[in-house]
Amino acid sequence: MAMEERVDTNKGQMKIGFIGLGIMGSRMAANLQQAGYELIIYNRTAAKAEELVKKGARLAKSPLEVSQKSEVIITMMENPQAVEAVANGENGFLNLSGANRLWIDCSTVNPSFVNMMAKKALTKGFRFLDAPVAGSKAPAASGDLVFLVGGDERDLKEVQPLFDIMGKKTIRVGEHGKGASMKIVVNMMMAQAMVAFSEGTSLGKSMGISEQALMDVVLNIPVSAPFLSAIRPRMENRDFTPNFPLKLIRKDLQMVSETAYENGVSMPSANLAKDIYTRAMSDGLGDQDFSSLFGYLNK
Ligand code: NAP
Repeated sequence: MAMEERVDTNKGQMKIGFIGLGIMGSRMAANLQQAGYELIIYNRTAAKAEELVKKGARLAKSPLEVSQKSEVIITMMENPQAVEAVANGENGFLNLSGANRLWIDCSTVNPSFVNMMAKKALTKGFRFLDAPVAGSKAPAASGDLVFLVGGDERDLKEVQPLFDIMGKKTIRVGEHGKGASMKIVVNMMMAQAMVAFSEGTSLGKSMGISEQALMDVVLNIPVSAPFLSAIRPRMENRDFTPNFPLKLIRKDLQMVSETAYENGVSMPSANLAKDIYTRAMSDGLGDQDFSSLFGYLNK
């Protein structure tokens, strides 16, 4: 990459590196490809890159090769260890002079980790945005994610066209780490809403109320989170095909615990929720959708 001040987001000119082609990343990358961007991609399990390669993406042998051949690098990894592996591991993409390249990390990872990564990136000459997303598999596929961004306003403006392809809304929360901070607040509340709903229906059934009656009432008054109505059919049909795997919400609650510890705040109910998801995971539900907690507590 030339040492220009800014990258050019014109489709014909800009090469985008995309690392992490799981449930979310594969769909986000597909939307960028569909919009005409040239992609250089990497995934630990290369087979998951096949669809994108068939449509013209170049498969890199390592994360380092991705950064050598792209101006903007997007990562969508499972957890901090996975981000660390592709960024700083052997052949990690930060093993290169950044030359003003822009790294956008969309993974849900904890704010103190994000701040550490931002520092490392800047030291290497990369610019950095944390941009975790609200929205699951379907919004990732339809380009309707909401990006929660931390970082420099000018960097965000420069890559806004990419966020507009992958999402329907971009919110700059503040400086580095603030996108990640907002994201763990959102997921902490979502995790607990699922626990409260699942326990509530279990209590209702123990008193002889039908599951249908419980859902009809609880999901149509303001006590329940709106996302629960959206996934009602899947819960009713006990279809827990992973959109957002249960092991990932547990990971997010662990990041809530760590952040609360770092900031000296008490999070008793979030820690209890984490334990409930941990129990479900040790009973084999880690790779099922997180809504399988409903089935778990409503056997
Ligand atoms: P996923 O399907 O499990 O994909 C995780 C990705 O991380 C895969 O590319 C995986 O590679 C890679 N990975 C894991 N460990 C690695 C390691 N040690 N080294 C290198 N690569 C590694 O997860 P996802 O659902 O796409 O979620 C990605 C991120 O978005 C997570 O942080 C999640 O919390 C967040 N998120 C998910 C949703 C959702 O609804 N799914 C919604 C919002 C945010 P392999 O393919 O080789 O395993």
